[in-house]
Amino acid sequence: HKTSPLLLMAPKTPQQLMQVAGHAGDFRVGDYGTMLKKFCEREQQCYLRLMKDALRPFVPAYHGVVQQDEEDYNMMDNLLNNFSTPAVMDCKMGSRTYLEEELLVARERPQPRHDMYEKMVAVDPEVPTAQERAQQAVLKTRYMQWRETLSSTSTLGFRIEGFQKSSGECHTNFKRTKSRDQVTEAFDSFVESNTHIVWGYLRWLKQLRQVLETSDFFRAHEVVGSSLLFVHDWTGRTGVWMIDFAKTAALPSHITVDHRSPWVEGNREDGYLWGLDNLIDTLANMLPR
Ligand code: ATP
Ligand code: MG
Ligand code: MG
Repeated sequence: HKTSPLLLMAPKTPQQLMQVAGHAGDFRVGDYGTMLKKFCEREQQCYLRLMKDALRPFVPAYHGVVQQDEEDYNMMDNLLNNFSTPAVMDCKMGSRTYLEEELLVARERPQPRHDMYEKMVAVDPEVPTAQERAQQAVLKTRYMQWRETLSSTSTLGFRIEGFQKSSGECHTNFKRTKSRDQVTEAFDSFVESNTHIVWGYLRWLKQLRQVLETSDFFRAHEVVGSSLLFVHDWTGRTGVWMIDFAKTAALPSHITVDHRSPWVEGNREDGYLWGLDNLIDTLANMLPR
């Protein structure tokens, strides 16, 4: 599926609707300063559980399902409320951004894909094997796994999806931002070298890490494709929240994950905490010593 680079809706209503990632058109402004996201049952189940979990302060408040123009939406708080002209960044967490079950589905009907071969070659003509080159096609599973190695997802356990500064300036071209130095440079641009903001974010992230380590929800889920939404404004106010649970899957009761161990197919590990550790280290290294 396609990810639109950016959607910025002018605040026609008193409330701002701003997207730094995700599918354009999946979001609406709801009543009472809420935000509506196109209904997804998996995401609904997650939010219902999260409202009863220790993680509740770190996710938008969930308000149930509503209809608009005959479409169903999950209604949640807009995290930008209470900020004035905020800057926003979306970081996708984890060392893997597809579910194990997606890999199984892609493997069931192993069709060589020419479109994916083309996308691969467009990035780096050296990547396809001799066999893939002969076929002018790659398998979807191969493509999915290769794509993760382009960004910092595979090396750091998180990647920047995009950010928007308070000036409105947007950056969404991070698909090949991979090294710690490149990521640091992007963070520095997002916070405009303001160490006070970096401090604020670090406080949030360290608290979040503590809560994640005790959360019943987190222990029982494979958390894939979920993001941390960073928000700050000129007053110095900061916030970090977990969003996007459309690919967060409940684990069978006999499987436990620590979110830090390397992924081996079948163990369901997502690298979420490994990525959070690296994110915290990267931000901490931006502070003067
Ligand atoms: P993806 O392509 O990652 O699957 P998606 O369509 O599932 O995206 P989300 O990741 O949930 O969509 O959200 C996309 C963007 O919308 C976020 O990066 C953020 O800018 C904005 N957004 C989402 N939820 C909220 C919220 N509760 N409050 C404020 N902004 C939000
Ligand atoms: Mg997302
Ligand atoms: Mg999503």
